[in-house]
Amino acid sequence: MKYEYQKACKCGNVDSIEVTRKEAAFGLKEKEIWSQECSKCGNKEFTSLSHPQPEFKTDLLIEWGNNADYFFMEQDEDLMLADEKYIDLILEVLDNHQILSQKRNVLIEALCVIIYDNNVSDENNSDLTDRVAKELKKRKADVLNAQDWIMDYIKEVSFPIIGIEYVSKKTNSSEHKEKNNIWNKLKQIWN
Ligand SMILES: [Zn+2]
Repeated sequence: MKYEYQKACKCGNVDSIEVTRKEAAFGLKEKEIWSQECSKCGNKEFTSLSHPQPEFKTDLLIEWGNNADYFFMEQDEDLMLADEKYIDLILEVLDNHQILSQKRNVLIEALCVIIYDNNVSDENNSDLTDRVAKELKKRKADVLNAQDWIMDYIKEVSFPIIGIEYVSKKTNSSEHKEKNNIWNKLKQIWN
């Protein structure tokens, strides 16, 4: 499979820049590609840049999990991974692979986000909530380790469902609002 960036220039030319799967997954060539000149007119500015997104697989998650400098996204990786189709993958990595503790926290938060998302939206899926809650109950130590990492508004909804007491440390209404905005934006992109 080919992984290509499509960089469109003001002149109308579109350059295709091939990268490896790993470079695509972690955006390793992104800065370089930003400053790459248009092959037709030499301009560095671009009107659009589409980037390839390799499918999440165990090997990529392990690589990500062991390198603090690797990101699938600069922010909100937890939201990106919070998808039913990644549950098995996340559990497999949590249970069978050594990864950095901060990366474990991201994976645990992603699972908490699935619960959150299925309890605050119009399309709540209680089967999915039950499934994820059951898995998190089995990994309570991981959840407790991640609790300082997980956003308060996610904990407030998900922790009681997992059976962990949520204690509010502070009111984070602005944080909540900001995260929700990002979340809604992501949803718009995905839908
Ligand atoms: Zn050009």
